[in-house]
Amino acid sequence: MTETGESSIEGGCACKAVRYRMHAPALIVHCCHCTWCQRETGASFALNAMIEAERVVLLEGQPEVINTPSDSGAGQRVTRCPKCKIALWSNYGDGDLVRFVRVGTLDEPGRFPPDVHIFTESKQPWVVIPSGQRAVARFYKRDEVWPKSSIERLSAYKAKRLASA
Ligand SMILES: [Zn+2]
Ligand SMILES: [Zn+2]
Repeated sequence: MTETGESSIEGGCACKAVRYRMHAPALIVHCCHCTWCQRETGASFALNAMIEAERVVLLEGQPEVINTPSDSGAGQRVTRCPKCKIALWSNYGDGDLVRFVRVGTLDEPGRFPPDVHIFTESKQPWVVIPSGQRAVARFYKRDEVWPKSSIERLSAYKAKRLASA
């Protein structure tokens, strides 16, 4: 879901100790079929809604950040509930600029279908990507896939963060 407009969507972990609210639509939603995501989820792919960190607001709880190995070697910081340890979002090598919110932790995950399937070269063989959905063997160039509004939103946000740093 990347259309602009009012958005206030909540989510949380399994034990309800951590609750959060997303104050904007996702910049983009990735369905990632890489083997790392398969291992981390124990499932066939990960579904992540990318969103500016400051637009993900904690309502309850104090999540913990766990450093986790990643394919690039740079590592991934996974934010988890301190009690039930469910992963809520993660960051890759950008400090805490953009969060990859685990769509399955949202109260209405069906509102966030994937905009693009990535790393389909390692997808499980039985996973069939619906025709007409954008899919790439590994990764993509941002300006070829992201909606213009999301590109503009991210660069405005980065400029603002830079100015206040
Ligand atoms: Zn929990
Ligand atoms: Zn992945």
